[in-house]
Amino acid sequence: MNLLSPFFNPKRISIPKIFHSTIDNKPFEECIMCKKGLHSSETHYFIEKAVRKYPNGHTDAIFEYAICMECSLEVRDTLSKDSMQRIDEFFSNKLDLMSRWNNFNEDENFKFNDWISNCIVTGKSVDELEEYQIYAHCEGQYMLFSLMPYIISSEVIEDAYALLSEQTKDELDDFMDKYLGPDPEIKKLLKDHKPVFIF
Ligand SMILES: [Zn+2]
Repeated sequence: MNLLSPFFNPKRISIPKIFHSTIDNKPFEECIMCKKGLHSSETHYFIEKAVRKYPNGHTDAIFEYAICMECSLEVRDTLSKDSMQRIDEFFSNKLDLMSRWNNFNEDENFKFNDWISNCIVTGKSVDELEEYQIYAHCEGQYMLFSLMPYIISSEVIEDAYALLSEQTKDELDDFMDKYLGPDPEIKKLLKDHKPVFIF
């Protein structure tokens, strides 16, 4: 039996800087929703960052957060089933994360930069992208090479967002308002950047 799988004890490394909190310059410490500490072993959580790149090569996080697995499932549960089904179909038609994982594992390639060098949907190089979102799956103080890490370009996020029902869009807006950006300036920036709970 082959026990290697993205879901069973996958390869792990210390959380790379790119997935640290930009504000604190260190790893995220708590879940954005339930405030649970994230560094004890066996606590699974996700990190999502929306990144904007400037012509001089500098990058900025438009938003960023860590969310524990329980809370992310809870949010997913509150979103309409139809919307989530459309999102799942949208992505499953366009990419095969299992094959990607198998290829990296066969090559024993655990250089995280290679995992986040291209949009997983369009294949475009991150160097060509001005805006994109990056995702990581972590456990305690480690980042896992599960189906993540990956990046998705903003154009794809917009296409996915367009598939959501109005009700789901409202719910995601509420999530953004509550947790990510009460500041009107930030809100303006957030307009085109939505968390999409595709984990
Ligand atoms: Zn939580």
